[in-house]
Amino acid sequence: MSSQQEPSFRESVDIMFSRAVALMDLPPGLEEKIRVCNATYTVRFGVRLRGQVQTFTGYRSVHSEHMEPVKGGIRYSLGVNQDEVEALAALMTYKCSLVEAPFGGSKGGLCIDPREYDEQELELITRRFAYELAKRDLIHPSQNVPAPDMGTGEREMAWMADQYARMNTTDINARACVTGKPINAGGIQGRTEATGRGVQYALQEFFRHPEDMKAAGLTGTLDGKRVIVQGLGNVGYHAAKFLQEEDGCLVTGIIERDGALFNPDGLDVEKIRNWLMKHGGITGYPDATHFEEGGKVMEEDCDILIPAALEGVINMGNADRIKAPLIIEAANGPVTAGADEILQKKGTVIIPDMYANAGGVTVSYFEWVKNLSHIRFGRMQRRQEESRHQLVVDELERLSAEKDLDWQLSPDFKEKYLRGAGELELVRSGLDDTMRTAYQSMRDVWHSRADVPDLRTAAYLVAIGKVAASYRAKGL
Ligand code: NAD
Repeated sequence: MSSQQEPSFRESVDIMFSRAVALMDLPPGLEEKIRVCNATYTVRFGVRLRGQVQTFTGYRSVHSEHMEPVKGGIRYSLGVNQDEVEALAALMTYKCSLVEAPFGGSKGGLCIDPREYDEQELELITRRFAYELAKRDLIHPSQNVPAPDMGTGEREMAWMADQYARMNTTDINARACVTGKPINAGGIQGRTEATGRGVQYALQEFFRHPEDMKAAGLTGTLDGKRVIVQGLGNVGYHAAKFLQEEDGCLVTGIIERDGALFNPDGLDVEKIRNWLMKHGGITGYPDATHFEEGGKVMEEDCDILIPAALEGVINMGNADRIKAPLIIEAANGPVTAGADEILQKKGTVIIPDMYANAGGVTVSYFEWVKNLSHIRFGRMQRRQEESRHQLVVDELERLSAEKDLDWQLSPDFKEKYLRGAGELELVRSGLDDTMRTAYQSMRDVWHSRADVPDLRTAAYLVAIGKVAASYRAKGL
């Protein structure tokens, strides 16, 4: 591989797919059926802005419809192209399969730099794009359900949901046509943070397995581990914040579009995010060393490297200089197939994208279920749960008083025990369970088969196995 050229993103996904299917016993026809992207729709539409018509190009790619609806984010970036959306759509198929979210894979994108437009203009553009997609059932509660990705967030999802509802005025399930919406437009608690939270849960699970830590040459717990993160957007910010605030990690490096910040004693994630939001970049942030060539900071010494921005950033050009023993792919496709081989030879452990960033689609699945059931999670049982717990506490306190025992329940225990689970607690519990179960399914394959060299191949094996079973059940 190293003598060859850097593969494109789609070629990288293809190479990784091929590595995995070579270890499986799939009928060749079925292998090809799973590999190919079913359809990619390209749309060009005009929007009148600033006194003239501007033409935009957008895509929605459907990789596999073995389960419907198909699911996947919509990205706003100048780098969007057919190769990229098809690679991302394929990853969505495998991701959903791995974490048992009952969807096929899809992805969309619009070639636009959203920072060039004001809010009103973006709304016009988004609504028009949503109209073009909805017209062809590429936004639809039972056919194709988009979500946020790079450059989009809950604001864009709310516009898309509203656009769909305007075009389908009698569809009672209209809100389930996209996920990642704000709470007041049918969203779910914990969705915005979900992908970053999933990265945290994935690392927590990794550190529960000494054998896996040993493979990366790591010991101990997450506490004190040095972390470098690329991209302080939705995914990178939440992952870094939770790891720093809740697990005791030391975030030593943050890489953004305009360079990187580095401080071996740790950076304040929250302060840097506020700076980034206010100034549109990290340049000028006072409490760290600033490097203009941000990518170089990925090569610094650290325990965990979290690429959380875009694809292809760890490639054949820099892979041999990456020192981190553990890389968790919070972004989609940050490590190219060529770099993957180099890193594997070095013994670097990679927690692959299709698992590592699956927290987003997992909570999107919960949001979709919430929209279809038209009731928020926890609404029926929360108070009932609390009153049953109160019964136990009252009884314990009565017994204590009756027997004149010299003990009391600590106020902390009472408070925690009495509190019934609301939507956020249930979402976190469902996400944690999903991340743990999926990790275990990958590591079982990784450790039980001598021919499976890494977690990525294991993830593909588990995911493709389930997709194949689904196709077989359909008679294919
Ligand atoms: P985002 O737009 O919120 O954040 C991306 C961040 O990366 C921004 O802060 C941007 O300034 C920074 N960035 C862009 N180019 C960069 C570069 N060359 N170097 C360093 N930083 C750069 O996007 P996001 O939603 O956080 O998505 C990031 C990645 O995570 C993407 O690969 C996306 O596909 C993946 N992902 C996102 C979700 C989700 O729920 N949002 C779910 C799964 C996977």
